[in-house]
Amino acid sequence: MTNPNPRLRFAPSPTGFLHVGNARAALFNWLEARRAGGEMLLRVEDTDRERSSSELVDNILTSLRWLGLDWDGDIVFQADHLDAHREAALHLLDTGRAYWCDCTSEAVQARAKARGGPPGYDGFCRDRGLPRSDDTALRFRAPDDGTTAFTDLIRGEVSFENKTIEDFVLLRSSGLPVFLLSNAIDDATMGITHVVRGEDHVPGTPKYLLLRDALKLGRPDVFAHLPMLVNEARQKLSKRRDAVSVADFEAQGYLPEAMVNYLALLGWGPKDGVEVRPLGEIVELFRLQDVTSSPAFFDVKKLQAFNADHLRALPAAEFVRRAHPFLTRGQAAVTTLEPLASLVQERVRLLTEVEPMIAFLLDDPVVIDDESWQKAMVKGKAAPEMLAAVTHRLDTLDGWSADAIRAAVEGAAVEAGLVNAEGAAQLSKAQGPVRVATTGRIVGPPLFEALEALGRERTLTRLREAAARL
Ligand code: GLU
Repeated sequence: MTNPNPRLRFAPSPTGFLHVGNARAALFNWLEARRAGGEMLLRVEDTDRERSSSELVDNILTSLRWLGLDWDGDIVFQADHLDAHREAALHLLDTGRAYWCDCTSEAVQARAKARGGPPGYDGFCRDRGLPRSDDTALRFRAPDDGTTAFTDLIRGEVSFENKTIEDFVLLRSSGLPVFLLSNAIDDATMGITHVVRGEDHVPGTPKYLLLRDALKLGRPDVFAHLPMLVNEARQKLSKRRDAVSVADFEAQGYLPEAMVNYLALLGWGPKDGVEVRPLGEIVELFRLQDVTSSPAFFDVKKLQAFNADHLRALPAAEFVRRAHPFLTRGQAAVTTLEPLASLVQERVRLLTEVEPMIAFLLDDPVVIDDESWQKAMVKGKAAPEMLAAVTHRLDTLDGWSADAIRAAVEGAAVEAGLVNAEGAAQLSKAQGPVRVATTGRIVGPPLFEALEALGRERTLTRLREAAARL
């Protein structure tokens, strides 16, 4: 933290879509860089494939941009620097810190099994003096004694006994550098001062440090390994089991500001306890040293609640603009939504819920949801009486305003015996049959405004049709 010009980086491996765990790592790097007035760099760790597939890289960039996380300077592609990584590895060979090995992984495993010890490489080729061939990999000669330790800003002192570190591979037999070598060298070349990444990288850190030391590349000032993300069963989040792709959350109608707000709380929290807030405030408050080491629960329900809060906070016109891409019925839906926007935005958690909420104004006849019908009409009390009373009162109503409609529905509820003198709570139940008959669903915008928008003719037609069906 002493460095006045911190340089941080997000270093994704392009293996699919941007995962929420990686997005959280990107965000914490970004927050620390922006708060401290440092630099935020982006490096694509594509060593495994020699050349990155541009589609996979685009997936990551698209999600970073969507989240509003920018970076400084050009993107560094690790695969562009493989020659330098190879050269460094061969330098380790020249200085006796590495050697060629021709053991197959089957042979390594068989020997580990035979000796009954921990799995891993046993240094078999250390002193064989093998030359380079098509079948040899270059291995690092790890020290046999001593420890490799570092201070982690989040975890404190972390120390590994060198005898537990195997002679790991630097160059595969194909000549391709392994991720660890490229990762350690690139951080040095890019002048990275703060290595902030997921805790799954803790076990690789002593190797990273041994390499940096052996290559005389110095060490970063700060390591901060972020806590693992877990699901409701306290299992590590997994791509196969859990919803984890940022792009999927975008497609489900989450707002980027809700997503970054929620991600910021996975391992960190503001001291004043105010969780829902704009990113600009989080940048001011964020401190990397306040991140905790315990696993963080990625709670999709809480994320949804955050999204609802951020949706409600939008100006109505902005809400319509954000909903636009989710309105499959184009301009007709936009025009229908506009006058009702401030009511709809109070009641949706996701942008994908907007169109279903106004579909009753777009569809004729209204599409009635079966479950809602069962609940309000079949199981609900006095539905036929309520429909009859409401139809009569609305048919003879003076004017067609939400207030007048409210008075008519309240009067009908009393007439149908559904509401007594003190029964405000019962009124919402009494509205059920009217709501389902006219909007097709139990959930929707406030009923009286909905009916005002629907108009007298369509309202009465739907009430009569529902009564007939009952
Ligand atoms: N490429 C690594 C990953 O995606 C990150 C390595 C690092 O941040 O040092 O998990």
